[in-house]
Amino acid sequence: KETIDKIAAGEVVERPASIVKELLENSIDAGSSSITVEIKNGGIDLIRITDNGCGIDSKEVKTAFLRHATSKIVSDKDLISIKSLGFRGEALSSIAAVSRCEIITKTRDELTGVRYYMEGGVEVEFEEIGAPDGTSIIIRDIFYNTPARRKFLKTSSTEGAHISELVEKMAMSNTDIAFKFISNNQVKLQTNGNGNMKDIIYQLYGKEISKALCAVDYEKDGVKIKGVIARPEVTRSTRSLENIFVNGRYIKDNIISKAIEDGFGDRLMQHQYPFCALSFDLEGVDVNVHPRKMEVRFSDGNHIYNCTKEAVEEIFKLQSS
Ligand code: ADP
Ligand code: MG
Repeated sequence: KETIDKIAAGEVVERPASIVKELLENSIDAGSSSITVEIKNGGIDLIRITDNGCGIDSKEVKTAFLRHATSKIVSDKDLISIKSLGFRGEALSSIAAVSRCEIITKTRDELTGVRYYMEGGVEVEFEEIGAPDGTSIIIRDIFYNTPARRKFLKTSSTEGAHISELVEKMAMSNTDIAFKFISNNQVKLQTNGNGNMKDIIYQLYGKEISKALCAVDYEKDGVKIKGVIARPEVTRSTRSLENIFVNGRYIKDNIISKAIEDGFGDRLMQHQYPFCALSFDLEGVDVNVHPRKMEVRFSDGNHIYNCTKEAVEEIFKLQSS
């Protein structure tokens, strides 16, 4: 069992940021309104995610760490209309298999919580413990038992930068959750979860960009686009700040990026790319989301392209009228 878990872990756990991603998705699925991510040494030594979500019932805690344990799929139909971010039930088991993993969790309905500690996926301690509502997971010493993989980790500053970027995207795609990111005991990012994208962008990127923002609010034939775009005076030389979210998930997509840039037309200088944070709500539009990759496939890419471009053009029409 151990070996299988270690192999499976390779798919889920590439680096500290992939652990943070899975744990954050679980915290979001748990209905949390506040999530704190804390790392030491780029996440290599320690990752701690604390949420105020629904918690795991004491009787379910051990089960949650079994492979293919998921509380999220009820029928085949659910596989098609997946609202929750996780649905494979392999994240916790994979993460626990390659680390020293501790969880403290408590549901609202129970009087006490549970602390469960594993090393390499093997139970070391399980005890009742007083705890606040919600879940806190601590991952220490990633890959301590798979030295070959540990060797592939980059420097702590590189691994930390990946986590920082991830928390940024998560904060933007979940504007009603308050995020806090602490690295080596310093608060690096903090959002207040008030649902306002402009505030979040101010909190994440500062004044210059947030002052140049225009609101986008577009709806047509199953395509809803909401969010903000910065006016052409604050562009970047890469696409890295074209933040695109499809059905709540951060993605990269050439069709959408191209449509945004074409919407700017010649307002955009060559090799310059706009800043934006746009959420696409595509209901009734066929989208295939790869569970791990940041990619989607649209059944009708032209329609998405046209809508996106039009949404961007509308901003400039509003401005010139
Ligand atoms: P999945 O998310 O695919 O269901 P995971 O291995 O990520 O699988 O998690 C297993 C189960 O553990 C989840 O289905 C959920 O019931 C529970 N769980 C994990 N993290 C949390 C959390 N932060 N709060 C509440 N429940 C959680
Ligand atoms: Mg999950």
